[in-house]
Amino acid sequence: MLEVVALSHFYGKHQALADVALGIEQGEIVAILGANGAGKSTLLKSIAGLVRPAPGAVIRFDGQSIFELPAHLIVERGIALVPEGRGVFGDLTVAENLQLGAYPARARAGEADRLAKILQLFPRLAERMSQAVRTMSGGEQQMVAIGRALMSNPLLLLLDEPSLGLSPLLSREVFRALTQIRAGGVSVLLVEQNARASLDLADRVYLIESGRNAGSGLAAAMKNDPEIQRAYLGKARATSPAPNSLP
Ligand code: ATP
Repeated sequence: MLEVVALSHFYGKHQALADVALGIEQGEIVAILGANGAGKSTLLKSIAGLVRPAPGAVIRFDGQSIFELPAHLIVERGIALVPEGRGVFGDLTVAENLQLGAYPARARAGEADRLAKILQLFPRLAERMSQAVRTMSGGEQQMVAIGRALMSNPLLLLLDEPSLGLSPLLSREVFRALTQIRAGGVSVLLVEQNARASLDLADRVYLIESGRNAGSGLAAAMKNDPEIQRAYLGKARATSPAPNSLP
């Protein structure tokens, strides 16, 4: 459903992305792994239309180019970004933040049903609809951010470091929610610093190093690859296979 080819991006003279390619099929969870500064956030922002790629890139969604579209029209096509740092409105309540997510035209039909499903997914939000978001924990704010993105009725959810700063318990809750979101028909492309959790969750993984593709494959196979274990899971050479559980 999403096809990215020859994606490059420059911040001034600094090249953050160089000829990156990736694809995601409907119903997949795909993770992007890479070190700090590898270009992962820039990649998600390029797909969401928040930064403009260098000429020559191809970004197609459901067969149509979205490369030249402004960010709000990319949302209308069905792509929603949950940015790093969440981007929630702290002074507004949970209910108001969720309502803002329903602003796009594609979100109007079925809004009440969608809200009900999101509150089933994150029951904590149902209990706190009138609470100011700035008074909530990091994990709860992440749920608000994901909920707000889902209110736009996306086909593809882009998530930038959803577990950053969360306790292991809340991280697990967020990752569990992503599996349910996929079961509800929304594909997921996620950037994560928690490589182990990503490999457990995702169907496929792309590796990005210094703004370039550095490998890709099925998560189940990559989890047992000694090079991946050494580079991304902090394992020394010739150790036992990675455990299969979330952290
Ligand atoms: P992290 O995991 O640390 O968030 P990342 O893989 O998401 O890193 P990006 O945030 O995409 O990486 O940054 C890629 C490169 O581009 C980095 O070298 C970063 O310093 C640089 N960069 C990012 N945003 C800007 C900007 N607005 N202006 C200049 N350089 C930038």
